[in-house]
Amino acid sequence: MRKFTKLVVPTAMALTMAVSSTALAEPQSNPNGPYVENEQNISLSSYMSNEELAKTLQKLEASSKGKMKLEIAGYSNLAPDGYQTETEKGYPLYVVKFGDSDPSKKRILITTQIHGNEQIGTEAAIDIIQRLSSNAKEVNEILDKVSIWIMPRINPEGADNQFEGKWYPTRYTHQTWLPEKIGLPSDTKAPWYYNALGSERAQNNNGTVVYGIPGYDQNRDYNPNLDFRVENQDPAEFTKFLNSKATNNSNNGGFFVTAEARTVSSVFKEFKPDVYVDVHHRGFNTVSDEDKRSVPVQIAAVVADPYTDPFSGKHYEVDEDVLKLGKQVNALSYLALQRGFSHFGAIQKYPDVNLPGTALGAFALNDTAIMLIELKGQSQTLGQKQSGMLKETVKAPLYEVFKGLADGSINNVDTKIYDDVPESSNRISDPTTRDNDMAF
Ligand SMILES: [Zn+2]
Repeated sequence: MRKFTKLVVPTAMALTMAVSSTALAEPQSNPNGPYVENEQNISLSSYMSNEELAKTLQKLEASSKGKMKLEIAGYSNLAPDGYQTETEKGYPLYVVKFGDSDPSKKRILITTQIHGNEQIGTEAAIDIIQRLSSNAKEVNEILDKVSIWIMPRINPEGADNQFEGKWYPTRYTHQTWLPEKIGLPSDTKAPWYYNALGSERAQNNNGTVVYGIPGYDQNRDYNPNLDFRVENQDPAEFTKFLNSKATNNSNNGGFFVTAEARTVSSVFKEFKPDVYVDVHHRGFNTVSDEDKRSVPVQIAAVVADPYTDPFSGKHYEVDEDVLKLGKQVNALSYLALQRGFSHFGAIQKYPDVNLPGTALGAFALNDTAIMLIELKGQSQTLGQKQSGMLKETVKAPLYEVFKGLADGSINNVDTKIYDDVPESSNRISDPTTRDNDMAF
């Protein structure tokens, strides 16, 4: 609050601030934080670099005795006009396969770290892969009936971003908007989710860091039309579309300009999963004014409204059966974390959004049941604090979903359990008021 004292503020606002600073004197949540204070260095040392991730996956494949297949689905950083040289290829995008795309089996696809600064999903995925690689009877029973594909860290560029010689994970991919390379006028406006500067909120949200490598929010680059390709559009029509704010916005799907979104979509099309789960991080909430438990995770079975493709006129809508299964997956996950009055169970629904350009939105509109998992905190706010607990909030639900898909019991879960999950509320700001998160 001290930094505001020099400002002349209208009385009403001064009053609000006085009230909120009283509220701040009490712990905002239980546990309160942990927050990274200004100028405190966050520790990310236990998280894996891209190289370490690759080595870990290779080791797990080798020790799985053929159970797990590790494949490279594509590479990051591919421009829409293709790789001009081998060295232009970025990092590999891995897909870990337990089972094939056999239509007689249930199929679930899991992706993590579509935003590079959201690491814990990837760490949880590694634990899940390790467990599925084992020869436990229960695991074998699951894999007899269910194929599980996992793509850990689908934004390796953002995950391994450097700033001033230090590891500085960011939300965005690395890629420059060069419209002339796809036959559009060079002054054609970029997709609205392009970050031309290459910027990210600073550690502790104390300002903005410009790291200077442009890129995209990959989780806006998907399109319900999975075959949409910028290079196949009528150049004049597409230029007009991009140059108008009335069309180049979040109500429409993205344009698959990133290699990452193209690669993940091609895996999706090959696998045709019944269920798709994407793991993110977000801000902080408590359950309610009375229940001060810190919400570890928000979930959602719906993130996009029915959609009409502005180019083809084709209509996309989530089928009733698909929506039901999505709610059952979310409900079972909710139940898996109810452990007495512990903070594991302090779950909320993610706020209502309509984002057809997200992977979850685009895939849901292509007949796949979805679950959004939103863990609290970001690498800039939590560092690796509470990572054990937060990993568990990913692993425990997913394992129950695997079992429920294997024995069919998921079909008996009451969707009302999902409908009754408390709505997102009681957003809290931590002591450095880093409370300006974007939607997932
Ligand atoms: Zn995210």
